[in-house]
Amino acid sequence: MMVVMTPQATEAEIAAVVARLEARGVHAKVMPGELTTAIGAIGDPEGVRDMGLEGMPGVDQVIPISRPYKLASSELSGHAPTTFSVDGRQVGGGTFCLIAGPCTVESREQTLAVANAVRSANASMMRGGAFKPRTSPFAFQGLGLDALAILREARAETGLPIVTELTDVANAEALAEVADVIQVGARNMQNYRLLEVVGKLGKPVLLKRGLSSTVDELLQAADYILKEGNDELMLCERGIRTFETATRFTLDLAAVAYLKLHTHLPVIVDPSHAAGDRRLVEPLSRAAAAIGADGIIVEVAEDPDTALCDGPQQLYARDFGVFAESVAAHAALVGKQLA
Ligand code: PEP
Ligand code: MN
Repeated sequence: MMVVMTPQATEAEIAAVVARLEARGVHAKVMPGELTTAIGAIGDPEGVRDMGLEGMPGVDQVIPISRPYKLASSELSGHAPTTFSVDGRQVGGGTFCLIAGPCTVESREQTLAVANAVRSANASMMRGGAFKPRTSPFAFQGLGLDALAILREARAETGLPIVTELTDVANAEALAEVADVIQVGARNMQNYRLLEVVGKLGKPVLLKRGLSSTVDELLQAADYILKEGNDELMLCERGIRTFETATRFTLDLAAVAYLKLHTHLPVIVDPSHAAGDRRLVEPLSRAAAAIGADGIIVEVAEDPDTALCDGPQQLYARDFGVFAESVAAHAALVGKQLA
């Protein structure tokens, strides 16, 4: 439910509504607007309806929020898009974020080389996996803590903020020390304990859609992070399982348009994992930019042919400059500039 206060409502009246909600175990989110303050009351709607909030001083009306996701819904934000800054790079609004880097940190040399290449081609942030959630337990699992040290060096050398994935709550503190954005991978989208921990780390988060998750499920997963008080969250469409097997996953661009309409959160597209083939990455990236995505996260390597993970989908670093310009031109079609 949403409690809309009158324009004259005082701080004390707002606080009294929040206190009544919280005393009943209802999560209250105060959203000051230009004219009025709204309070999102997230809990059992029947219970909230019976609390008699309409009669409280300063309350104008109590309106149901119709969707299963609450905090992620644009109904709750009054449709104002969320924007935030990652070390000076704006995410959301009129900005297009270009996040690029290797699938996996394999060595210091390999990582620094790609970091410098994407930096010179105007990437806004760098990606690189330290802990890899691999389908097979026998596949390379990432360098772990050693990779974090390498990412820290890449950050120092290039100034690029680091996006890297957390797969286990046990590594949360160590990862948060290095990461500027914490990625939650597709396979962990419904790891609710991990989402709550990530929500408490005080760092921006990139939440990927599960390979077989609906958009509603993605947004309810987002609510797990938002309810911990972390609003610096971007959603990521990375392709889903369908009957189609020509591409690695089916990139659901309709979901991007839907998310832009129904949530206030920035939406990022991962064309690399969706396509599984570098030749498809540029057209999909251009489409993502033109449809209004707030950015892309794309895999780039100096020598993808020898990569330990996801070689066929990683762009050659030498091609990245031309790629970036073409994507930026498509973002400009919808009024977005590179971060
Ligand atoms: C990744 O970005 O490194 C990754 C593993 O992606 P996903 O979780 O989308 O499969
Ligand atoms: Mn990968």
